Amino acid sequence: MTTKLTGKGQRSELEVGVLAVQGDFAEHISVLRKLGVDVREVRLPEHLDSLNGLIIPGGESTTLSRLMTLYNLREPLQKMAADGRAVWGTCAGMIMLSQEITENDPIPLGIMDIGVQRNAFGRQVDSFEQQLSINGLDGDPFHAIFIRAPVIIRVGKDVEVLAALDDNRPVAVKQGNLMATSFHPELTNDYRFHSYFLDLAHRKSLGNGSS
Ligand code: GLN
Repeated sequence: MTTKLTGKGQRSELEVGVLAVQGDFAEHISVLRKLGVDVREVRLPEHLDSLNGLIIPGGESTTLSRLMTLYNLREPLQKMAADGRAVWGTCAGMIMLSQEITENDPIPLGIMDIGVQRNAFGRQVDSFEQQLSINGLDGDPFHAIFIRAPVIIRVGKDVEVLAALDDNRPVAVKQGNLMATSFHPELTNDYRFHSYFLDLAHRKSLGNGSS
């Protein structure tokens, strides 16, 4: 079944966090503020308290991984996801959410039942942009920006593929309260993915996190 991406959740009562230790967290914060939600920068475990959701941004996953260990964020992040609160990883954030990657470093959090390959497009095609149809997303295709992007090479049985490349490799997935994208919606003026994430966060705040 395809989840409908409506983007119509109530935002005023939500507070969401953006992991702000490395990467393009400022861009996510700016989009979320435009959508009218309270946003908290997360650097320490206690910053996760009472948040309705969290975005782990793109950046450099090896650095993100080290900083998560240094600031004791690993367990609290795993617990937040297990509690059913909304968590979305973009690019390096997706790598960190995965169960396994094709290399030994970084060490992912093992939160989503996906396997990921980092830098899947090699040096020749460092970055590219593509119009992607997203399952369940109304309106035009999404303008997806890929920057030294990972792809998903394994999806678990509870994982819904929202978008894939022409060769069928998934690049946007959802698993209950969790979502991951290889690309960077925060670098566009199209806020449909952020709206969808806020819907997930809102659903949990109504006590229906696992749908
Ligand atoms: N290539 C980076 C990594 O492996 C991810 C790039 C990004 O987040 N834009 O961590």
